[in-house]
Amino acid sequence: MNDRTNVREALHPDEALRILLSDLPQPSQEILPLGDALGRVLVKELLAAVDQPPFDKSAMDGYAYSAVGPDPSGAWRLVEVIAAGAEDAKALGAGECARIMTGARIPSGTFAVQRREFAEEDEGNVRFARAETVDNIIRRGENQKAGDVLLTPRRLYPQDIGVLASSGYSAVPVARRLVVGIVSTGDELAESGTSLAPGAIYDSNGPQLAAQAAVIGCETRNYGIIPDDRGRLETAIGRSLSECDVTIVSGAVSLGDFDFVPRTFAALGVREIFHGLKMRPGKPTYYGRFGDKSVFGLPGNPVSTFVNFEVLVKPHIMKRTGLNQTAQVLHLPLSVPLIRRGGDRVEYLPARFEISDQNTSSERATLVRPLFYRGSSMLSALADADCLIRMDIGVEKIPEGGIVHARLIRP
Ligand code: AMP
Ligand code: MG
Repeated sequence: MNDRTNVREALHPDEALRILLSDLPQPSQEILPLGDALGRVLVKELLAAVDQPPFDKSAMDGYAYSAVGPDPSGAWRLVEVIAAGAEDAKALGAGECARIMTGARIPSGTFAVQRREFAEEDEGNVRFARAETVDNIIRRGENQKAGDVLLTPRRLYPQDIGVLASSGYSAVPVARRLVVGIVSTGDELAESGTSLAPGAIYDSNGPQLAAQAAVIGCETRNYGIIPDDRGRLETAIGRSLSECDVTIVSGAVSLGDFDFVPRTFAALGVREIFHGLKMRPGKPTYYGRFGDKSVFGLPGNPVSTFVNFEVLVKPHIMKRTGLNQTAQVLHLPLSVPLIRRGGDRVEYLPARFEISDQNTSSERATLVRPLFYRGSSMLSALADADCLIRMDIGVEKIPEGGIVHARLIRP
């Protein structure tokens, strides 16, 4: 880092994000069976293959009746029983009706369907007890026509799988999962499940980053805990660079005596795009490119690592996967005043939602309360948080009731 501890020389995180979202390779595609596509990103617009519904169908269990009236006594003659899925039903003639099930094809000559609960049937004579205001018929193509846009590119949720199945899709084109390599650095780190030597702490960034990447659909590879040793770092990061689309290294990215990561990136031929942000946490954050591959160095404090992934790495990965999705941000009032010292950086603070305790439900509002937070090593604050409040540069105080930007972290 050519000394960018000076915040004035560091990049604004909004500008960093703009850079992170530009000049990215197109996602490569694969075709997956529908049953394997949940959570994957649909890469192209798909058209409806059939009309929805594909035929005029009954919306109710009831009686389909002719456009030409019943006998003078008011009774319709029952001529048929039509089940859902039945292929051909007779046309209805004058005074005729058919008992029809929900989803069954409407016979030709039908005027409307009378609901079963509003009709009385007696030995083939059917009388209608009450007039209906709707015809209880769902017309062919009423919901959607073949050739209409069925789905635009998106991450596939269960309801999208349903829509695709309803149009007969058995396979869909999705973005190949990005492979994300994760390297944890630090002589002090121990793997969970082992005992802690004096001065050691457990590696939480490795598992946490892998989980953050997995939640957004990436395949992850763990390159382990690497001590602050240039040779060992070069080997581990080099392997990740050659085997993965995105490499994320946590720790050793700042100005400490043993912060070898930026030098290691340079030695391996990674092109630095930025190193140093006007952001808290995240001042020493690094982004570089290695051909088409993305390389991140995130500060090691666990809250920093988490926040930097959420704010910068996640949108970048989403865009690389073909998604232009922006973060889910709510604008909500603060339940208490928020004060900080020094407004020279964009700051993200863990917070949770709270329902105001007004008496009537119509007066209830969702508020945001900042959590007790000592700084970026306090991972426990994140476990209680629903969102991150953003304080912009120049803002040192927001009063109670002031509207804040609250970014969801448990969408
Ligand atoms: P660094 O960014 O390497 O200067 O580390 C900053 C702080 O984060 C130090 O207190 C480290 O012990 C801690 N830290 C670094 N990496 C990890 C990790 N993988 N898991 C938990 N804490 C870490
Ligand atoms: Mg370190």
